Amino acid sequence: MIINMSSLATEKEIDHVIERIKECGYQAHVIHGAERTVIGAVGNNDRRGELEALRAAPGVEEVIPIAHPFKLVSRQLRPRPTVVNVAGVRIGGGDLVVMAGPCSVESRDQLLETARSVKSAGADMLRGGAYKPRTSPYDFQGLGVEALRFLKEASEETSLPIVTEVMSEADVEVVAEYADMLQVGARNMQNFSLLRKLARFKRPILLKRGPSATIKEWLLAAEYLLAGGNPNVVLCERGIKTFETATRNTLDLAAIALVKELSHLPVIADPSHGTGLRSLIRPMSKAAVAAGADGLMVEVHPCPERALSDGPQSLDLSGFAEMMQDLGPRRLREVKAA
Ligand code: PEP
Ligand code: MN
Repeated sequence: MIINMSSLATEKEIDHVIERIKECGYQAHVIHGAERTVIGAVGNNDRRGELEALRAAPGVEEVIPIAHPFKLVSRQLRPRPTVVNVAGVRIGGGDLVVMAGPCSVESRDQLLETARSVKSAGADMLRGGAYKPRTSPYDFQGLGVEALRFLKEASEETSLPIVTEVMSEADVEVVAEYADMLQVGARNMQNFSLLRKLARFKRPILLKRGPSATIKEWLLAAEYLLAGGNPNVVLCERGIKTFETATRNTLDLAAIALVKELSHLPVIADPSHGTGLRSLIRPMSKAAVAAGADGLMVEVHPCPERALSDGPQSLDLSGFAEMMQDLGPRRLREVKAA
């Protein structure tokens, strides 16, 4: 339920409503807007009627049911967009944020060369996998902690914040020691115990859409993070499985536009995994921006033909610089944040 307080409601009236929500066994999520306070009552029991009765409480303007199964991520509860701050980079704040770097961190030299180059081309954040979710157990699995150290060094030199994947609950502490933003990979989108643990860490999360996840399932996965206490969530559309085989995945551009309607969370696009094809990165990046994306995640490698993972979908250093030139103005829109 959403309880819209009147713009004239007093603090005492707001506190009373919060107390009643808690008494009824629901969580109260309070959003203090510029004009009014909105309180989300989230939970599940048979005392909904008592919440509805709050219509009669002093200072309450209206009580509206939340239409979707996801509540805290819903735009109905928080109409203004959320801006997620990753070590000074604001995602969802109206500027296009570009995260770039190799699929996997393969060596110190490979990472430093890439980091310097994407920085000078205008990237805002550095990506790079230290722990790699690979379809085959015989493929390169990532350098682990050594890669995290290289990422940290590259970040310190270039001042690019780091985003890197955390694959298991056991690795959360060590990855959080090095990374500014923790990526939940597509294969882990519904790893609920991982999501619960990440919710407690408060570090910004990049939540990739599962290859077979519906938009509802994706937003409910994000709901786990918000309900667990972490509001710093950015969604990433990275392509879904369809009958099409000419591309690695089908980049679901409509999902970007729809999720922007349904949720206040920032959304970025990953055209690298979304297509699997280097030649499509540029056009699909522009298409994602046109669909409303707040940012892009792009795989870049100094020598894609030698890459230990995802070479065919990686841009080389000059290809990335050209793409950045081609993107046009990075200021997308004026945003009034929540
Ligand atoms: C990645 O970003 O390198 C990655 C493995 O992505 P996804 O989880 O989307 O496949
Ligand atoms: Mn990859």
